Amino acid sequence: MNERELLVECLDKLKIEMSPLQIDLILQFMEYLLEKNKYLNLTSITDRRDFIYKHIVDSLIMINKDYVYDGIKIIDIGTGGGFPGIPLKILYPFIDITLVDSVEKKLKFIDEACSKFDIKVNLIHERAENLGRDIENREKYDIVVSRAVANMQTLTELCLPLAKVGGLMIASKGPKCMEEIKLAGPAITLLGGDKPNIENICIPTALLERNIVTIRKSSKTPKTYPRKPGMPNKNPL
Ligand code: SAM
Repeated sequence: MNERELLVECLDKLKIEMSPLQIDLILQFMEYLLEKNKYLNLTSITDRRDFIYKHIVDSLIMINKDYVYDGIKIIDIGTGGGFPGIPLKILYPFIDITLVDSVEKKLKFIDEACSKFDIKVNLIHERAENLGRDIENREKYDIVVSRAVANMQTLTELCLPLAKVGGLMIASKGPKCMEEIKLAGPAITLLGGDKPNIENICIPTALLERNIVTIRKSSKTPKTYPRKPGMPNKNPL
């Protein structure tokens, strides 16, 4: 089975609908990233099958299609080489998505890739802590999504301030999910979040388990949060 067939099989099993053109685009993005990765440190996953499972499919499962609608404002915190933001934008071209990272060269790579493949995203080179205090971004997003950036305690302070009241924070977590959520309980409540919902998803063939944690924001985040850069990690709430 070649890489394309592998991706198509995974998408079929997960009931994710993508056209042949969307599949071409996502595979072209993978090739471009792997080429640039030879001199930019964008990912440690260089085996194409692993890349499909651990970057592409893993990103596509993060947002349930029932949450997505035309013009929805989504922000990806700590996007790195563009995950989950780029696969999500390819799957749902009608979303308004912003990709954020504190490392400029990663955003430069995404900018070049998006120009090359005509993918329309907004890019912000900034730390999430600063963005969460910025009037243009604070409480402005319908969905704040993040993968592989921090533990739930820290992540909650990076993400929840950016979500609108009524909006969602969505994180992908591994086997220690329940432990992390328990520790993050007080931070979630303090920052305006409701009880987390956890959906366990298995990536077919690879048999990788993911826990998609969704938190609805039901009240405003107190003005004192997020704290200054580094604090959410150094001294989690
Ligand atoms: N989300 C991508 C993925 O799943 O492949 C990248 C994960 S990488 C392990 C973590 C990324 O988060 C890095 O690119 C790092 O620069 C970024 N990051 C960490 N803390 C951040 C913060 N406070 N604000 C913005 N970006 C941050």
